[in-house]
Amino acid sequence: MRAMNDSTYDVAVVGAGVFGAWTAYQLQQSGRRVMLIDAFGAGNSRSSSGDESRIIRMGYGADEIYTRSALRSLQLWKEFFARINQTLFYQTGVLWLAHEDDPYPVKTAETLEKIGIPFEKLTTSEVGRRYPQIGLERISWGMLEAESGVLVARRAVQAVVSEAIKNGVEYLQDAVKAPNGSGSLNGITTTSGRRISAGSFVFACGPWLPKIFPDLLADRIHPTRQEVFFFGTPAGNQSFTPPALPIWIDFKDEAYGLPDTEGRGIKIAIDRHGSEFDPDTGDRVVTNEGLAEVRQMLARRLPALKDAPVLEARVCQYENTSNGDFLIDRHPDFDNVWLVGGGSGHGFKHGPVVGEYVLARVEGNQEDVEPRFSLRSKLSEHQRAVY
Ligand SMILES: Cc1cc2nc3c(=O)[nH]c(=O)nc-3n(C[C@H](O)[C@H](O)[C@H](O)COP(=O)(O)OP(=O)(O)OC[C@H]3O[C@@H](n4cnc5c(N)ncnc54)[C@H](O)[C@@H]3O)c2cc1C
Repeated sequence: MRAMNDSTYDVAVVGAGVFGAWTAYQLQQSGRRVMLIDAFGAGNSRSSSGDESRIIRMGYGADEIYTRSALRSLQLWKEFFARINQTLFYQTGVLWLAHEDDPYPVKTAETLEKIGIPFEKLTTSEVGRRYPQIGLERISWGMLEAESGVLVARRAVQAVVSEAIKNGVEYLQDAVKAPNGSGSLNGITTTSGRRISAGSFVFACGPWLPKIFPDLLADRIHPTRQEVFFFGTPAGNQSFTPPALPIWIDFKDEAYGLPDTEGRGIKIAIDRHGSEFDPDTGDRVVTNEGLAEVRQMLARRLPALKDAPVLEARVCQYENTSNGDFLIDRHPDFDNVWLVGGGSGHGFKHGPVVGEYVLARVEGNQEDVEPRFSLRSKLSEHQRAVY
């Protein structure tokens, strides 16, 4: 067996969050020799992919690119879970709660129709009849994506990494140092002194990307602090578990909730960007103000749970680009280094397609980068447009 220091890989993938995990998995499937490295472990609690659950929905307003990607990703997630024989997707449905004056759900319906994704438009009274546990204050219609649902996030990422390792990906838990120089990068080094040589390098380091490449990305990716709460439902009551309760999204009020899957409690969070956050040292204790705001939302949307106990709370971070588009592009100083990130609070579901996309670029048969994913399109001025 060769010593680790002598190893040369086709590709070294740094970061085993959902983007890096799927990238390593797909690269290996295409026959490449792959090393995957993560500082804290796949789906660790600091990573953006480390929470219990993430929504996979098709609706993205007029953003066809993400609707198509979500559709393909759902298929790839489902095929993957079937292959490993694990239930890590719950088809709970996603219910959009639309306000009268909100164009986003209208655009979403148009896009879904255009692409041929099934959904159901519901009047407020139909929503009320089907989901009597949901409060409909200020809601004027609803839209149900019946085939969408919940990904069991942390375990799903860990499953992708386990499967990749089983298939031959080498995995290392270590922190990679920022590369120096320009041209063609031969190797990277880790804080414990290992050197890893590879033909190409993918940095899929989520909210750490601006720390690793500060000159390039400090102004282009902004990690923000996001609080997430899980509340307990009454004993023996099935109204808050699927199929009785789907995921709900109140886009206008910047709030969403997930039904109780696997007994973790119902999940609720505010999607508005929080304050700047350091993924290494940031304090992950939720605030009283954050709790008060979600409890208010709970009282509005699931009134029977207004006094429900908090079962768990987490602080996670979004890694926002200027407008919410992903960053998937070559590093401008190196011809064999790829930057993959900018999930911007909506990236998890797209892991499988991001993996496919990066594979095609690393293989070199699709040199052209989607303009929306390009480094050039990432401005320092913040104007969120993708949700
Ligand atoms: C509260 C919240 C709710 C969200 N809800 C949804 C949702 O419902 N649906 C959805 O699709 N998306 C959602 N997202 C977004 C989604 O979770 C992220 O876009 C996605 O997880 C980003 O994955 P990533 O692989 O880019 O980053 P990460 O998961 O953060 O992975 C990066 C990895 O890189 C490693 N790393 C960093 N630096 C180094 C280094 N120097 N050396 C080695 N390893 C390193 C880290 O340890 C980490 O494991 C949400 C995000 C948050 C925070």
